Amino acid sequence: MRKRWFSLAAVAAVLVALVPAAPAMAAPTFKVPFPCNQSWSGQTRSDHSPAYAIDFNRTDDLGDPVVASAPGTVDRVTDLGGTSYGKYVRIDHGNGYTTYYAHLSSFNVSVGQTVGYGRVIGYVGSTGGSTGPHLHYEQRLNGNDIQARFNGALALYWGTKTYTSDNGCSGANTGAGTVNTAGAALTVRSGPGTGYSAVGSVADGAGVTIYCQTSGTTVTGTYGTSSIWDRIGSGRFISDAYVYTGYDGYIPGVPRC
Ligand SMILES: [Zn+2]
Repeated sequence: MRKRWFSLAAVAAVLVALVPAAPAMAAPTFKVPFPCNQSWSGQTRSDHSPAYAIDFNRTDDLGDPVVASAPGTVDRVTDLGGTSYGKYVRIDHGNGYTTYYAHLSSFNVSVGQTVGYGRVIGYVGSTGGSTGPHLHYEQRLNGNDIQARFNGALALYWGTKTYTSDNGCSGANTGAGTVNTAGAALTVRSGPGTGYSAVGSVADGAGVTIYCQTSGTTVTGTYGTSSIWDRIGSGRFISDAYVYTGYDGYIPGVPRC
């Protein structure tokens, strides 16, 4: 849904639709930040700043596309000129997780945009404090750089390793959304309606991958009144009335369930 004003009805609906907040959610499943099947050499070194960043290279990589390593919302598209990161993009994945993509030659997204796996966000460059084309990549939690993981597997610290991307390989068109309940966690249902059993919850502000959408119980939420439900996993549905997707109706390209 698109952003809209709250109404009293929306607040009341939040109160009945919510359950107590779940514990902190696990990290997103980060993937190599390049298109499906590409192989890139990733180097880590203890004198890097910050220490856990990875520099990615391959032959003739200037201008090669860089993709989002997990679904999220673009929250920085910044040009620092000839210093530091130069042109960089930051993606907010929810739950305190962010990723950084630096020294880009140009951008392909804007602030506020939701992105999914495989979405091109910019192109490899050598802007800022860089001596040659490469992608400087970071994963952070609550602002602190963390040792990067791809599909849950720790990257090589320290050294150089070839990483092959499975980012966006599925071919399935998924959508990306951000849960917005204005505070509490959102109940996840086993089917597309409030009559289905509660099978969990999603924290306010969490990024979700939407595999398909369908019509179900009409709900009034943060983004107005909608009968659309989003499938965010196997047997896991949430009302689209609480999910920012950038669209009032169905997300273009995402299949019906
Ligand atoms: Zn670097």
